Amino acid sequence: MPAHVPAEVRVDEQDIRLLPKAEVHVHLEGTFALVDLLRLAKENDVLLPGPAATIFDVSTHDAFAMPEVTTGGTGRGVGGAGLTGFLRFLDWQCGLVRTPEQAARIAYAFAARQTASGIRYSDVIVNPTHWSAWRGREIALMEALAAGFDEAEQDGLCATGIAYSLLRTQTAVEAEDVVRDLVQHRPRRVVALSVDGDEKTSGRTGEKFRAAFRAAEAAGLHRTVHAGESSGPEGVWDALDHLHAERIDHGVRSIEDEVLVRRLTDEGIPLDLCPRSNITLGVYPDWASHPLPRLVEAGVRVTINTDDPAPLACTLDEDWAVAATVFGYDLTDLAGFAAESIRASFADDDLKRDLLAELARVAEPEAVP
Ligand SMILES: [Zn+2]
Repeated sequence: MPAHVPAEVRVDEQDIRLLPKAEVHVHLEGTFALVDLLRLAKENDVLLPGPAATIFDVSTHDAFAMPEVTTGGTGRGVGGAGLTGFLRFLDWQCGLVRTPEQAARIAYAFAARQTASGIRYSDVIVNPTHWSAWRGREIALMEALAAGFDEAEQDGLCATGIAYSLLRTQTAVEAEDVVRDLVQHRPRRVVALSVDGDEKTSGRTGEKFRAAFRAAEAAGLHRTVHAGESSGPEGVWDALDHLHAERIDHGVRSIEDEVLVRRLTDEGIPLDLCPRSNITLGVYPDWASHPLPRLVEAGVRVTINTDDPAPLACTLDEDWAVAATVFGYDLTDLAGFAAESIRASFADDDLKRDLLAELARVAEPEAVP
């Protein structure tokens, strides 16, 4: 066993699943199960890029590892071996979703997957630039996904709000057009504007999207921004100053800037952390080096999320169990994280109140202040 994984398992995953909680940093594009992919490929008469058993191991996909850039696939996350293939894989996979029924089925499957981890509400990030069949019909994609989320909720599965995500390489005009469409059509379940994409290749983009985010804010949409992962603290400053972000997706590298940590604490801005994703993409070498506990100790609000659980081969309950083991958290601490996830979410106030009350019944009372 590697030295950084303590042998003692502190909290049972079943106990974690029983905690009502929210997940607020998860990409719909990163949740397609193998069975969904196989069915979509069959329906579209498309060959898999490789053996089904290794479909998520994009390093084995020669077709995806080619250096040319496909449209819409400039991606998110940090650079490094396998990222280009991963992002091309997302484009290929989302390109298989071509009908409203297929989109609704993916949405329903997402809600079922979340529910299995004890997640009762999700803010799911959807970046339509990956969904090539819906180019120019992005509002119709939102409606098709909403139909699947509706059916899921009627069946007792996790409730879901959509964070509509811009790709960082889109232009200012494209971003403003997206917001104009959202404000005009008000697609159901779209609760927030988001931006994702690799800040290493696109540079600082806060100024570029300022007008789009201000228009979203004026229209009552929430704002969440990927920053402080592939960028340093300056990306987080830009997200706060230019985009009026209410939450930061990742934001881990805020730990490098004391003044920024103080601002996050003073303003109560949550960081939507995804430790496994950071470790897989090489932002930190291992769990023990991850700044999650240091951010908590500094008083920053944090949530613990999966980012792209299907290709990362993880679930939220498993990752919370790892966090408990590595960082020494007990079930009461995890109930505190569950409470924070609900409060940080963009769920409506009634649902937040109900989930917090339910959590207080399940957990130790002092865990849910
Ligand atoms: Zn993300």
